[in-house]
Amino acid sequence: MSDVVAALRQTVASLHAELTRYGLVAWTAGNVSARVPGEELLVIKPSGVSYDDLSPANMIVCDLDGVVVEGDLSPSSDTAAHAYVYRAMPEVGGVVHTHSTYATAWAARGEAIPCHLTAQADEFGGEIPVGPFALIGGDDIGKGIVATLSGHRSPAVLMRNHGVFTIGKDARAAVKAAVMCEDVARTAHLARALGQPLPMAQADVDSLYDRYQNVYGQPGRQLSAD
Ligand SMILES: [Zn+2]
Repeated sequence: MSDVVAALRQTVASLHAELTRYGLVAWTAGNVSARVPGEELLVIKPSGVSYDDLSPANMIVCDLDGVVVEGDLSPSSDTAAHAYVYRAMPEVGGVVHTHSTYATAWAARGEAIPCHLTAQADEFGGEIPVGPFALIGGDDIGKGIVATLSGHRSPAVLMRNHGVFTIGKDARAAVKAAVMCEDVARTAHLARALGQPLPMAQADVDSLYDRYQNVYGQPGRQLSAD
């Protein structure tokens, strides 16, 4: 078990660099977590530590109630939301939270991002939905994420007046969803600013989603890890 946790400390620490590389976070905002497979545990970043100072050694291991099991620092203040998602959605192995600019601008208006792009159909299978307003602390954010994403194709939810939460089969897939969410949010914003984006037929959205999720990619490799 400790080898698995050690590997996930490395993975989660290094995935935080992707949030800064793609410009999804400011200061210490944003966080990535991973479920420890087969255990009632998750690995998440510490609260309030500069991205430059994140390392495998200072990642925090918590149980699925958000109680610290290993680590000297406090876990991310969003740990309760991550833990709630892992408790409620056993298929989820990774969770990411950002306030990435364009996606959060849609969240600020409480507007779902309509699907006007093939790339959005591929990754999200349709619109990126809006979740309820919820204050940090307790389970309200987690409940809102789970209520919105359960049974929905989208691995991303725009929590109203707040920001983005994404889920994935592992932490890397959740980071990819966060990167792609911001990318399509930016394009959708520009398209809306320039005029009226053209609709896509639902059958085309369905076809693109099916192909991308089931066919696209290198043989023998998990698509969502690409
Ligand atoms: Zn936040």
